[in-house]
Amino acid sequence: MKPTPQYHPPVDAAERKAIKPVICYPVDTLLLPDMDTYAAARDTLKLTDALVVPPREALTFKVPKGHFFRIISTDGPQVGDLNLWNADDLKERFYSGKTRALHGTHLSTGDRMWSSFPHMRPLATITRDTLDWYGFDEYGGGVHDVIGTRCDPYTGRLLSGKDYHQCCHSNLIRALAAETGLSPAQAEMHVHDVLNVFMCTGFTLDTHQYFMKASPVRPGDFIEFFAEIDLLGGLSACPGGDCGEQHSSDTAPCYPLTVEIYRPDPDTLGNWTSPERSSYSGSHGL
Ligand SMILES: [Zn+2]
Repeated sequence: MKPTPQYHPPVDAAERKAIKPVICYPVDTLLLPDMDTYAAARDTLKLTDALVVPPREALTFKVPKGHFFRIISTDGPQVGDLNLWNADDLKERFYSGKTRALHGTHLSTGDRMWSSFPHMRPLATITRDTLDWYGFDEYGGGVHDVIGTRCDPYTGRLLSGKDYHQCCHSNLIRALAAETGLSPAQAEMHVHDVLNVFMCTGFTLDTHQYFMKASPVRPGDFIEFFAEIDLLGGLSACPGGDCGEQHSSDTAPCYPLTVEIYRPDPDTLGNWTSPERSSYSGSHGL
């Protein structure tokens, strides 16, 4: 939020504010995935695994590279908080900030989920999004954001003075600890900013504060990903439910989310190869 100004605008204020913005990272030609190959592979999908994430809980799942996975709304409008790691190295994980810088505040078909430094490669590519029709609404809201973080007990305590243990942050910690055998404290170091699946969010037009509103997701909607490397996923069914009113409590109606994993006919993937880590030397000038 910007406070009431304490300084008078300079004489050329209007001129300075009228400067046109430029896109920080133009990606129109550099980062286009081969969507035709993914589309051909989609026609051959065979379900290999499925799991149901209970409300106010999280589960982990593995997706081999070259496979697809879907997060599906089944019983009612529900938001999910998604973490992704390299299945063989938890230090390589989803980097929401750089993904936001490359693809914008909200993701959809054709966008990629990029990994942390020094790896920086696509972990997954979004291949289908049944909510792509939503675009941006009159409030500036969109679906599947990378601008929020995840609900957590620290912010809850800061703002309400109470402890709540079913936040997405804690749910993901318990799920990762169960998957890996790490202690909760060790697992917490690997839980990171999420892709807010199905969540409808934006920044208010006047103060640019982060807002949420009831998700437009309905049973049958799904978002689909192609795993570019071997992935470990963690998905929390947020205690906020559709995040239309509040989170970090047991108040909101909550529903499960289904994860389905699919194997395509490998022959349909053509020339696709799993992406290499960034080729930057790592010298940092030394
Ligand atoms: Zn949450």
